Amino acid sequence: MKGRLYIVAGCSGVGKGTLLKLFLKQNPNIIFSISATTRKPREGEQDGVNYFYVSKEEFQNSIDNNEFLEWAEFSGNFYGTKKSFVEKTLNKGIDVILEIEVKGAAQVKQKMPEAVSIFIMPPSVEELEVRLRGRHTESEEAIQKRLNEANRELEAGKSFDYKIVNDNLDDALKRLQDVFDSERRKQC
Ligand code: 5GP
Repeated sequence: MKGRLYIVAGCSGVGKGTLLKLFLKQNPNIIFSISATTRKPREGEQDGVNYFYVSKEEFQNSIDNNEFLEWAEFSGNFYGTKKSFVEKTLNKGIDVILEIEVKGAAQVKQKMPEAVSIFIMPPSVEELEVRLRGRHTESEEAIQKRLNEANRELEAGKSFDYKIVNDNLDDALKRLQDVFDSERRKQC
């Protein structure tokens, strides 16, 4: 049996990275797809762990060679999911998680409607701003860009299969686990 594809999206600063890290620790049999990006690594990020950091030229070559399952521009940088890795892993019967923004999520849903989409919501837009600023990883300009994207993303999130509010990390983690458990039960 083929593995299942899960798409996890949510506004920048919503805490989906932390949530997924904990979730993957709890579920070591699920594989996280590492994206390619033209964004520069943040402090503490590692090539091949958080992302594959590539130049704009390399990214463009991958687009031209049709290597991406999906790709999108977000906040001035490019991000994309390599098709071959996802296909190979699913064919081995292993579930894959894509942590991507909403334009990419729509592309994946169109190509693979059986993919399960999960949108992580902030308790409020005000709280999102507090979290984004609290990370101290972005410039003021980058924070503004990400906040501008947030409303558009929240609107797009309405069409996702599941929505989880990340008001409290433990509760959100439990709800995420419930989604995966109920999807697995559906498969049996
Ligand atoms: P960040 O720069 O904060 O790591 O990521 C910015 C946004 O890009 C996040 O919403 C993240 O989920 C999204 N993202 C990361 N990888 C991909 C990808 O491969 N494709 C798409 N479309 N979005 C991605």
